[in-house]
Amino acid sequence: MSKMEVKTSLLDNMIGVGDMVLLEPLTEESFIDNLRKRFDHSEIYTYIGSVVISLNPYKSLPIFTADKVEEYRNRNFYELSPHIYALADEAYRSLRDQDKDQCILITGESGAGKTEASKLVMSYVAAVCGKGQEVNKVKEQLLQSNPVLEAFGNAKTVRNDNSSRFGKYMDIEFDFKGDPMGGVISNYLLEKSRVVKQPRGERNFHIFYQLLSGASEDLLKKLKLDRDFSKYNYLSLDSATVNGLDDAANFRTVRNAMQIVGFMEDEVQSVLELVAAVLKLGNIEFKPESRVNGFDESRVKDKNDLKEMCELLGIEQSVLERAFSFRTVEAKMEKVSTTLNVAQAYYARDALAKNLYSRLFSWLVNRINESIKVEWGLFICDNSFEQFIINYCNEKLQQIFIELTLREEQEEYIREGIEWTNIEYFNNAIICDLIENNISKDECLRPGNVTDETFLEKLNTVCAYHQHFESRRSKNSKFLTDHSLPHNCFRIQHYAGKVLYRVEGFVDKNNDLLYRDLSQAMYKANHSLMKLLFPEGNPAKVNLKRPPTAGFQFKASVGTLMKNLQTKNPNYIRCIKPNDKKAPHIFTESLVCHQVRYLGLMENVRVRRAGYAFRQPYEPCLERYKMLCKQTWPHWKGPAREGVEVLLTELQVSPEEFSYGRSKIFIRNPRTLFFLEEKRRQ
Ligand code: ATP
Ligand code: MG
Repeated sequence: MSKMEVKTSLLDNMIGVGDMVLLEPLTEESFIDNLRKRFDHSEIYTYIGSVVISLNPYKSLPIFTADKVEEYRNRNFYELSPHIYALADEAYRSLRDQDKDQCILITGESGAGKTEASKLVMSYVAAVCGKGQEVNKVKEQLLQSNPVLEAFGNAKTVRNDNSSRFGKYMDIEFDFKGDPMGGVISNYLLEKSRVVKQPRGERNFHIFYQLLSGASEDLLKKLKLDRDFSKYNYLSLDSATVNGLDDAANFRTVRNAMQIVGFMEDEVQSVLELVAAVLKLGNIEFKPESRVNGFDESRVKDKNDLKEMCELLGIEQSVLERAFSFRTVEAKMEKVSTTLNVAQAYYARDALAKNLYSRLFSWLVNRINESIKVEWGLFICDNSFEQFIINYCNEKLQQIFIELTLREEQEEYIREGIEWTNIEYFNNAIICDLIENNISKDECLRPGNVTDETFLEKLNTVCAYHQHFESRRSKNSKFLTDHSLPHNCFRIQHYAGKVLYRVEGFVDKNNDLLYRDLSQAMYKANHSLMKLLFPEGNPAKVNLKRPPTAGFQFKASVGTLMKNLQTKNPNYIRCIKPNDKKAPHIFTESLVCHQVRYLGLMENVRVRRAGYAFRQPYEPCLERYKMLCKQTWPHWKGPAREGVEVLLTELQVSPEEFSYGRSKIFIRNPRTLFFLEEKRRQ
């Protein structure tokens, strides 16, 4: 058999190759082909070295059973077919045995399977770590935090029926035996605009539908709610029910999960009262009342919803009513009352709903943390949110991915005493800087300071400057201020591709100005949770400082996240969405190709192959190939490293093909590995 034939037969037997590093020849086409071949056989996981590529199967696979967990437990990465459990096991073992903090970074576009992957990792770790009453309770609480967060933070979108509308990372702390002691969840930016308005074909957060479908008659009555979705302005109707989503059953799951996590019955009740209050709030409508001075002043149209909302929260009706008609402005130590027109009243109402809900969400996260808290350890990160913000975060994660994979590669060579020459790689630090320094700055995107228009103008100036600056250093400019662009738009060259942004509403979304009269009205509520959520409404603590903008807060939390990641050993899961139909068995090549490009997977393989494509500790290597040599078969008595040397010499593999590290053998060319594998088969 010629070498070429050897190779193809081997590839076919294995359903493509399990590790892209072994792919020959390596082209984008062969890469995608390999993914497809494996996908067609329900092999959804493929490695690039230690990175796991995960394709969303959109169907349940029999590979997540307790037996599978046992199979992958304490086994070496290369011994079994690629699986997310292998990564989880590797991370968990280095944490337990080598005391190295681990982080698991899960990236990919909406619907690619990040949330599911994070749950698989968590359940694997929960299954393999220690048992015992106390430990089991902690594990159960950690796992049950998921349904609670998903109910309040996930929604059906066009791309994903269970889309996370907040970014999340979760730290799990282990003791020296490797038992989990607890965790901390951090969330960044909930997509709160969804509370008051949903794009076509999308829903509000799950909890609203779950509550209306799943609550008993008695509970509904207490909350003054009607089961009919169509009664609520804040619930879009075109997709209120989702195939395969049982809101009523999920409501029971969520309540049960809240109980396990440690919520008291009255806390659950308070939370649901606030959810109901948001729905009521959305039904409050306004009408103009003409004033003598010619201005229109807003009045609440039908007071029933207002009344019910106030009853739910223990708010004095007249206080809230007034807050929808007037606002107090403080100028030079003087309080001036101005009237609100109808549009302003609606704005105020929506701002209140968004603030109420997002503060409730943050409170929930904190409350869960109180139950599960201890610091640091394994770290699972799953990100996504509003377009611009998502892309900024992804840009940062991509940057860190590049830095860390290369760093790790270099460090391994140094550790193993192997010579290493630096290789060039693309760097997106410039684009991260642009966003950080010019777009998420606090003074940017403040109403009053800027409008959408002046914001765009400013951006254009900045971009033009960068373009000039950039063009001296590289051919590909990342800031595109093309005159052919539609009015009100700008475009950024992200690593993932060019993205067009519409500035409309940018300024607004970044702010959500809540008039003080409203926060004061909320603070006066006779409802302890409500009071807690609006501390700035306390007249004793009037704080004239404006709260930081969303962009600013976000930048700060991404900054902290990046710092944390730098101190940990990274593990990567790169999720890919095979089609746009949320359907099994369909592999849309162009879609996959786009994701492979922007996830930088080809570069990833190249980096991996630039040095040594394959590496393995001496013992398993000798074990696997010792049958190929008389001197090592059936037993080699000396050190494994010498056994491997004897073996390779006997097989007459060219010495340039190998480097002997301290604990591992490094193989330069995948072809050599094919050669060894084929020998084993003969
Ligand atoms: P978003 O960014 O919108 O939150 P995501 O990457 O978190 O998206 P998931 O919610 O994890 O995406 O996955 C979307 C859907 O795909 C799931 O609800 C599930 O139906 C399906 N899915 C994902 N992973 C798997 C899997 N391993 N097995 C079976 N189905 C899966
Ligand atoms: Mg998700």
